[in-house]
Amino acid sequence: MNIDKWLGLSTEPAIMIAQYGELKRQIPWMYSLLIVNALAVAYTHYLYAPNWLVIYIPVLLIIASTWRILHWMLSRDAAIVDAARARFQIRNATLVSIPLSIAFVGWALFIDQYGGQIEHGHVAIFIAVTMIGCITCLVHLPQAALLVMAFVTSPYVAYSFIQGNRVFIAIAINIALVTGVVVKILLDNFSAFVRLVRVQETLAIEQREAQRLSKENALLAMTDSLTGLPNRRYFFQRLEELLCTGRVSKERFVVGVFDLDRFKAVNDSYGHLFGDRLLSAVGERFAGRAGETLVIARLGGDEFGILITDDVDRAREIGQDLCDVLACPFEIDGNRVSVGCSGGLAMFPEAGSSAHELFDRSDYTLYHVKSVRRGSCALFSLEHETLIRSERSIEAALQGANLEAELHVQFQPIICAETMTVLGVEALGRWTSPRVGVVPPEQFITTAERLGIIHAITLKLFQKALHSLAFMPQAIGLSFNLSAQDIISPDTVCRLIDEITDAGIDPKRVTFELTETALMRDFTAAVSGIKRLRSLGSRIALDDFGAGYSSLGYLHRLPLDRVKVDRSFVSDISKPSGRNIVNAILGLCQTLGLDCIIEGVETEQQLQQLRSLGYRIAQGYYFARPMPLEAFLAWLESGWSAELRLPSENPKRLKSVA
Ligand code: C2E
Ligand code: CA
Ligand code: CA
Repeated sequence: MNIDKWLGLSTEPAIMIAQYGELKRQIPWMYSLLIVNALAVAYTHYLYAPNWLVIYIPVLLIIASTWRILHWMLSRDAAIVDAARARFQIRNATLVSIPLSIAFVGWALFIDQYGGQIEHGHVAIFIAVTMIGCITCLVHLPQAALLVMAFVTSPYVAYSFIQGNRVFIAIAINIALVTGVVVKILLDNFSAFVRLVRVQETLAIEQREAQRLSKENALLAMTDSLTGLPNRRYFFQRLEELLCTGRVSKERFVVGVFDLDRFKAVNDSYGHLFGDRLLSAVGERFAGRAGETLVIARLGGDEFGILITDDVDRAREIGQDLCDVLACPFEIDGNRVSVGCSGGLAMFPEAGSSAHELFDRSDYTLYHVKSVRRGSCALFSLEHETLIRSERSIEAALQGANLEAELHVQFQPIICAETMTVLGVEALGRWTSPRVGVVPPEQFITTAERLGIIHAITLKLFQKALHSLAFMPQAIGLSFNLSAQDIISPDTVCRLIDEITDAGIDPKRVTFELTETALMRDFTAAVSGIKRLRSLGSRIALDDFGAGYSSLGYLHRLPLDRVKVDRSFVSDISKPSGRNIVNAILGLCQTLGLDCIIEGVETEQQLQQLRSLGYRIAQGYYFARPMPLEAFLAWLESGWSAELRLPSENPKRLKSVA
């Protein structure tokens, strides 16, 4: 270190490495020049000087020079050398210049003792040309150039003065002045070189920073800010990449879509901020499972996309593991919430060969899993393929359907269990398509919702139901099912009200039935729709209560009139647990001042049990199945009426009608 300081060598790594690179290229030339020039002098003095001066010493000098040439030629490339190594080489080159300068100049002065004026002249030229050549080669190491100048010029000038020849004294002084000027120019050039290296270094740093920032930006553009997981863009980009390689290598991989089961309910009950926290906690759990071969990305909302590239035969287990990871409740702000998730998987190439196909199939599988077994995960199979095919044909038939001709309504009575009178009818939509036959209402309603044509269907069914209602006794009310999308659409609500007015029906006779899913989709819009219908005088019933999430919050916060207990409870009524639940629901409704209707009564025994529990209003096959208007009117005629007799008076007839 000290010797470097003393020699005035640079300590900046970038400069040292740049210097090293230049020297590696120039030093071999410098020694080659020395060898050639020394050989020329030895040759011109061969006849005059002793052998040790014209043979042995030149050979030694050539060996030393060749060693230096090889040393530099074989040294490491500048691109891979580190600063310490470069510094070592530069220091070496500087120090080696001293003995070699002395050796060459000493040899030249000795040989100058021999020969005539021409030979003396050759020595002077040798010293001048060689030194200027060497100094020029050392342009990137000015310290060495200065040393060479000092160790060659001074002895030669001194020697010339001692010799006393005026011409050679003048030549020596001339050489000293010229080398002085050359060295001055070299020093200026070296400063410019140093500045250039520094600018290059700064540019390189800036470029590296720019690259780092652009990498960071690219990463941010591919990351979901809420969960820290990769985002939708990354997911589809990666999927395309996998498809490209998969098409060539035939390597299989799995695409998956996962969706939280109860996120909407949590979001509605606790607010969006809480929902965001929950999503971020979900992201954390997923991130714990993600890795090189399992990409988990947030596609938006509560939907996540996955890509499995290894161990694809275990894809279902891997997917199920993700469902299980979310099955444990989350603790957020002191609240324990349980969301759960379901997933659908599709394997390349079996389930599809394009991103669209694979995504569509996994999405379909998810939709299917949600309807049969929430909280689990399934792989797209032949069974799904068949379902898709039939659904696609139903979709096509529904889109081209003549609603007026193909839709009709059936009516199922709602009975007062105390007086056995008919309180009303529930209108149930029926679709008979000339292309695909009879399609169950649950299926065509869901399909219509998916296709965005539910409003037209609802309105047509409602028109028909109101039209039929006009043929029924005034005491009979109409219960009409609305789909999730109907109640949140102000336009549909408006049209429903218009239909009631146009039909001249008392709005109080109409009850609209809504399921919890309808309310969960957009709570605020649903409430405003409900309020408009109620302000008209119509009533609102919460349908299928107990089958969904049955958030008590809904019962409490919603402007409701009735609750319809899901028919699944009736079948359990013989067991104490089932009875307890049914009893508790009734108690809850009574506390909240809501009418409670029990659906799905199929036997006399069930009816008796329900009665003993205090249920007043019931519906089910025991009384009657849904039937067209004419059949319903005939059924009424056959003994039932809006103000009716007890079943004990006429139990047989009851059954025969049902
Ligand atoms: P929902 O609103 O719960 O209607 C009651 C369903 O239970 C009807 O099925 C009815 O036939 C059936 N049911 C009645 N009593 C009994 C019984 O004692 N035992 C059994 N096992 N079932 C009984 P349906 O007509 O097949 O309708 C199914 C669902 O389709 C309805 O369930 C409703 O959610 C939907 N739906 C039907 N019509 C319409 C409609 O016009 N609009 C809308 N949005 N949805 C409708
Ligand atoms: Ca209903
Ligand atoms: Ca129901």
